[in-house]
Parts: sequence; C-alpha cells; structure tokens
Amino acid sequence: MFARRIEAVRQGLAELRLQGLLVTSLPNIHYLTGFTGSNALLLMFPDRNLFFTDRRYTTQSSEEVNGAKVFIASGSLVDAVSKNLPRRRRMRIGIESDSFTVAAYKHLKRTARGALFTSTDGIVERIRVRKDEHEISKIKRAAHITDRVFSKILTILSPGVRELEVAAEIAYWHRRLGAESDAFEPIVASGPRGALPHARASSRKIAKGDLVTIDMGCSADGYHSDLTRTVSVGKPSTEMRKIYGIVLDAQSRSLDAAREGLRASVLDEVARSTIRRGGYGKFFCHSLGHGLGMEVHELPRISSKSKDVLQSGSVVTIEPGIYIPRKGGVRIEDDIIIRNTHSEVLSTVPRDLVIL
Ligand code: ZN
Ligand code: ZN
Repeated sequence: MFARRIEAVRQGLAELRLQGLLVTSLPNIHYLTGFTGSNALLLMFPDRNLFFTDRRYTTQSSEEVNGAKVFIASGSLVDAVSKNLPRRRRMRIGIESDSFTVAAYKHLKRTARGALFTSTDGIVERIRVRKDEHEISKIKRAAHITDRVFSKILTILSPGVRELEVAAEIAYWHRRLGAESDAFEPIVASGPRGALPHARASSRKIAKGDLVTIDMGCSADGYHSDLTRTVSVGKPSTEMRKIYGIVLDAQSRSLDAAREGLRASVLDEVARSTIRRGGYGKFFCHSLGHGLGMEVHELPRISSKSKDVLQSGSVVTIEPGIYIPRKGGVRIEDDIIIRNTHSEVLSTVPRDLVIL
C-alpha cells in the first residue's frame, strides 16, 4: 500500500524533472509512511526516503513508519534535512510550500548549499483524490459513527436547550462511539443564526419553531466524516419549509448526477440552477462541496470555478444551502463515493425534514 503510493509520487517527480521532494504536510506524511505524530518531515528521492522527527516520537516512529529511513533530530528538523541532502550540485528539489513557513525555507536555503529548491503543490494531494477500498472503509466507519451521533442528538433537541449543550453532546458521543475527536468544531445554528453558514454553537437557547442546522463530523483512524442536517423544533414557518424543499431538491439532483468523468463545475451548477429556479439563487453563497479523507477539506473542489473532473474512488461532500439574513437557513450535506456510473451515499440519516 505505502509502496504503491510512494511509487505514484516518484512518477510525479519524474514528470516534473525533480530529483527530490520535501514533504512537509503532516497528512501527506501520514499517507505516505503511516506516521501519525505531529512533527515530521519526509525527504523523498527516486531510490530512497528519509524521515525526520524529534525525540518525543522515537518509539512511535519505529512502530509506524514504513518505507523510509528514520532520523531522530536533536535540533530542528530543517537542520537535519539540510545535513542529509546529497552534496550534488544543482539538484532540483521540490518543497511542499502550503505547509512550510518562509522562515524554515530561508533557513534551509542558507544551510543546504548546492540544491535548487522549487515550490510545489498538490503532487501528493492529487494522488490522494482516488481512495483505495482500505481508505473508503475507514471513511465509511467515520460516517457511520456520525450517523449514530445524529440519532442521539435528535433525542435532546428541544426548546430551551442551548446550542453549546448540543455541541458538547456531539463531542461526547463522537468519542463514546469510537471516534478520536470531532473533525471540526460542530456548527449548531438555530433560528436566525441559521443564516450564518459557519456559525459556531453559541449560548442561544433553541426556541419553538426554529430550524436548527447541525454540521458535524468526526475523525476516526485518521479519516473524516462531515454531515449536515437541518431539523425543525416545532412547526416551521411556511417560508422555511419551502426553502427546505428547494435545498433537498438541489441536493437530490446533485447526488443523482454525480459520477466519474463529470466536471465538478457542472455538478455545482446542477444544485445552483435548482436553487436559482426556486428563486433563492443569491442566497446560496458557497461552493457545493469538497473532497474528504485524511483532511476535512481536500481535493477535488466542487465549485463553479473548479477545473477538477470527478474520479471514481474519490469521496466528496454535497452540501447545498440557502441562508436568508435575519431569518434563518437550511443546509443538507452528505458524503458520497464517486463510482463509474453513479455515486454511493455514505450517510444513512434520512434527508426529509424532521419535525421534532
Ligand atoms: Zn460539514
Ligand atoms: Zn463539508
């Protein structure tokens, strides 16, 4: 498994005429070596890999790291990398620039004489887009845990309960049911706060007649889930019920359309045009979805500007929404696997409006 991933990166390096790559993103290092700690660098060459971490991870790295020679640095990891670079003149080495600071880069440039560094992005991330069945089963497990948490949450949602209490229950149940942590700070947005697509839970008490948007996910065995449901506590207003119907229609059409080979921008438009026809086009203010895996947001991007084409084996979210300032909002989000001719929805939580 790791050998196949490393081989794919090496092919990418050859295509870019790079003689080495400094992998600085922890999820990428995890993906390529199996290491799950929080401080590491991986230096890849066509014939060998060098892995650098600090003394806190001596035991963990010896147990976890595959396919690389492990170096335990006593000082900075960048120094250790620099010392272990071959002294060949004009060796072209890529650096993942998204997760490397300017200060670290300056330091490396000063100490590693002879190498030519060039910034790269997405070499490993593009390989991660297509998940193998081993990864898919981990994402399915994470999604399953979140499904079960959602049914627990339905039993506590009632007038007078504060959004923060709901968030606390989410965090508690995720861990109780086998996750390591929440994938992100849960969003619990009731009543008018539902108009804020990224509202963190507040001390607001849920009131009768509120729609409540709950966006939550967990991390289990290094992979994530991401689920949103909007439920009604008491009878919803006519307008909110109408909005729910439009978002549900937009999401259902997107789930039906998603398959390998479809441009992500076309999929975004399936949802966007449905919401536009419903008369709420300007209230759908974010992209339709994103890739999901070792990170909560990864490739592909599913937006109107995306150049990505859907690939089988990739896992993405489909999450249209409508947000009306001062009134409230609705979002419905599911995780799906892209297959050759269709998509497979991971969540089993019903998508019709639940009225509690
Ligand atoms: Zn979400
Ligand atoms: Zn999402």
